[in-house]
Amino acid sequence: MRHTLIAGNWKMHKTLPEARELVTALRAGLESLRGGDAVEVLICPPVQLLFPMAKAVAGARIMLGAQNAHNEPHGAFTGEVSVPMLTDTGCTHVIIGHSERRQLFHEDNALLARKVRAVVAGPLTVIYCVGETLEERESDRTRRVVGRQLDEVVKSDVPADRLVIAYEPVWAIGTGRTATPQQAQEVHAFIRERLSATYDKPTASRIRILYGGSVKPDNAAGLLSQPDIDGALVGGACLSPDDFLAIISIAAGLPRK
Ligand code: PEP
Repeated sequence: MRHTLIAGNWKMHKTLPEARELVTALRAGLESLRGGDAVEVLICPPVQLLFPMAKAVAGARIMLGAQNAHNEPHGAFTGEVSVPMLTDTGCTHVIIGHSERRQLFHEDNALLARKVRAVVAGPLTVIYCVGETLEERESDRTRRVVGRQLDEVVKSDVPADRLVIAYEPVWAIGTGRTATPQQAQEVHAFIRERLSATYDKPTASRIRILYGGSVKPDNAAGLLSQPDIDGALVGGACLSPDDFLAIISIAAGLPRK
């Protein structure tokens, strides 16, 4: 069985007082949520908030993740943060390969492969993001692009129990345009098949594959009820405690896979 994971990527949002307010509301909401323990909840705030947010979530069923990490453990890399440093904060997860990192910071598969290995050596759980652009989808290259993002980064030396994949079509991130549940399921099934070739079928069937791209309370049920969608990586909607809690509550109400 795969435990549903709802992860919030705060991106570059929230000052300390704003973050405290958000987490206080989230904790209160989670405490009163029936069946909420069927769902794992993760928040990924910007790096300056990791220490205070570790304190803010202590004792709650909220895990803490980072949005990026350097592949080296230490060194002359001004402005960067390493996996051992993230581990110090209480982080258990790190997002690697978000499309904004790929596009705006020119991170390619070769670099991401090193980052993924640094995270799992941590030993933390990596949420490795894959997804095609609109142009790639429209020219029928989704499988080729996503297949390469997997093949060049996820090899059998990456421990499956520290790996989560997030399928995030680039055209759906922050655009309000979501993949239909069928479009998402199709790619998730393809990803699981590819993982079966890298690992084996039983192992691939245990790896969680999240969907990300404008997930909101009004489209979460359709997406999360698909057989190969094991949770969501939520951007915009995780900044509102009401929306994020609504998505968690929808996930909690669905049958386990
Ligand atoms: C994201 O940043 O990973 C994301 C999916 O953002 P949004 O939900 O805002 O599309």
